[in-house]
Amino acid sequence: MIEILTPARLSRARETGALVADILHTLKGRAAVGTNLLDIDRWAQTMIVEAGAQSCYVDYAPAFGRGPFGHYICTSVNDAVLHGLPHDYTLVDGDLVSLDLAVSLGGVVADSAISFVVGDSPAPEDVALIDVTERALAAGIAVAGPDARVGDVAHAIGTVLSEAGYPINTEFGGHGVGSTMHQDPHIPNTGRPGRGYRLRPGLLLALEPWVMADTDRLVTDADGWTLRSATGSRTAHSEHTVAITADGAEILTLPRPARGQAGADPSS
Ligand code: MG
Ligand code: MG
Repeated sequence: MIEILTPARLSRARETGALVADILHTLKGRAAVGTNLLDIDRWAQTMIVEAGAQSCYVDYAPAFGRGPFGHYICTSVNDAVLHGLPHDYTLVDGDLVSLDLAVSLGGVVADSAISFVVGDSPAPEDVALIDVTERALAAGIAVAGPDARVGDVAHAIGTVLSEAGYPINTEFGGHGVGSTMHQDPHIPNTGRPGRGYRLRPGLLLALEPWVMADTDRLVTDADGWTLRSATGSRTAHSEHTVAITADGAEILTLPRPARGQAGADPSS
């Protein structure tokens, strides 16, 4: 299903997006050497509940996972890249953490992910890995608009990833968002320009480039959820929910202080 939001629902989506961004950046600020992944999950739960929002994860039980997820946020560390199930692990200096969060507020979902390194001396290779996912995300957002097709966005993302030398996995990618977390259209992290569904104002998209340093193969942990690099290499993931507008794409999942500066057209 492809959902086109009315202006009233788009206003609600902005509130959901701001909440997701605020929670993620609060958690990034708190995550430090000595923080347990279960602390991060509990903090996320508290903020979601206090905001009157609903978790999209707790009861999430897709075919590729094992039963309901049962937690409020995905915490993927180092070689873990997607769907990291929070567990009893204490962060150490240099850990590369990806946090992925989706919540529903007022009937509209927003979905975002950030990656960062814990401690004061991140490895340059980790910084480069995170940077390429952020640049790929920015490139996808820059071409997203009412004249673009899904293939244009996918191609823009994939070009940044492949030019930086990273393999691209197409099993998991971006997606439409609306009253539920995962909707059509699927937005792979590589594609052919000029192909696919033509974007329309009112469409929400979650764009989410992610990479593993030296492989495109994933393996699943014994927990049935956490997806890791098959080679054990480091990984990174960046995601924003954007709204297609009359003249571009508006990022909904920026932290509140940055939203005024970002304006309605981040592609300019
Ligand atoms: Mg996500
Ligand atoms: Mg997503």
